[in-house]
Amino acid sequence: MIIVLKPGVSKKQETTVLREIRNLGYRPHVMRGVARTVIGAIGDELTHQSLETLVTLFPQTVESVMPVQKRYKFVSREAHLDDSTIKVREHVIGGKKLHVMAGPCSVESEKQLLTTAEAVKAAGATILRGGAFKPRTSPYEFQGLGVKGLKLLAKARRETGLAVITELLSEAHAGIIAEYADIIQIGARNAQNFQLLIAAAKTGKPILLKRGLSMKIEEWLLAGEYILANENSNLMFCERGIRTFETYTRNTLDLSTIPIIKRESHCPIVIDPSQGAGRADLVTAMCKGAVAMGADALLIEVHPNPAEAWSDGPQQLSLEVFAKLMRELHPFILASGRE
Ligand code: PEP
Ligand code: MN
Repeated sequence: MIIVLKPGVSKKQETTVLREIRNLGYRPHVMRGVARTVIGAIGDELTHQSLETLVTLFPQTVESVMPVQKRYKFVSREAHLDDSTIKVREHVIGGKKLHVMAGPCSVESEKQLLTTAEAVKAAGATILRGGAFKPRTSPYEFQGLGVKGLKLLAKARRETGLAVITELLSEAHAGIIAEYADIIQIGARNAQNFQLLIAAAKTGKPILLKRGLSMKIEEWLLAGEYILANENSNLMFCERGIRTFETYTRNTLDLSTIPIIKRESHCPIVIDPSQGAGRADLVTAMCKGAVAMGADALLIEVHPNPAEAWSDGPQQLSLEVFAKLMRELHPFILASGRE
């Protein structure tokens, strides 16, 4: 920690602050400048109390306190210099191949799911998405088929060979979701539900952690830290748009998270342009941008008849539009050095 003292601080005031720093378990190192004094406090900020309270404890003496260490450890690039890769059945996410996870927002019926699964597979997707337990803003909206939806996902996997990603909404469902899913999705509304993150981590399954609706990147990394700190290293981050003042799109898809997560973390980054834009007509362009910027995977909502979808109709792509997107994406995948 770096502690900056106010100008004109007396020797007595300085001594009091130094004593408090030692009391809190740090070794102070005083650097006296022309105008003011700066104290470097040496100690482990991860195991000792933060010194940030010094500003309010000694308002006449301490100007500011700045941490030197990051608050996250295992997700940080410093902890793991190479990119992490995640094995999902026979696939590797975060490696050379750009993976596309596609499927309906919600699993609605066997016909809807299987038709979609076959079409997205034919177009080049490797992972089937589909919500069985749905986090809906209104309790009067379709809440998902529950376990019946999980069984349909398993059937679609058997018939197509696609891996399956589905959302975990409640700690109580961790066991059953882990039984059916190849990747567990933690949704935006639960991104800081720490007990849920721990329960998901403990299943040992790969976890896709969405960014919360108004989550800062540091908070998102710290939420990811819960997964790795609970001995599950199979974490991928998923940007799905944040809430801003803009109403033209459902959310504002923050593509700057691609280079930022790559710099700060070794975990793969996935982009979800469907929740991100909330509009089917923007999805293709956002996917091209995401691939060009180095995203490791895409999560895209696809439905055989978006107009009749039970959730998120305006943002789901028809089977034909998805196939066209995949064709148009190909040169971007190659140009970004991927397969
Ligand atoms: C979804 O993927 O359908 C979903 C509900 O996502 P999010 O948590 O990002 O809103
Ligand atoms: Mn959705």
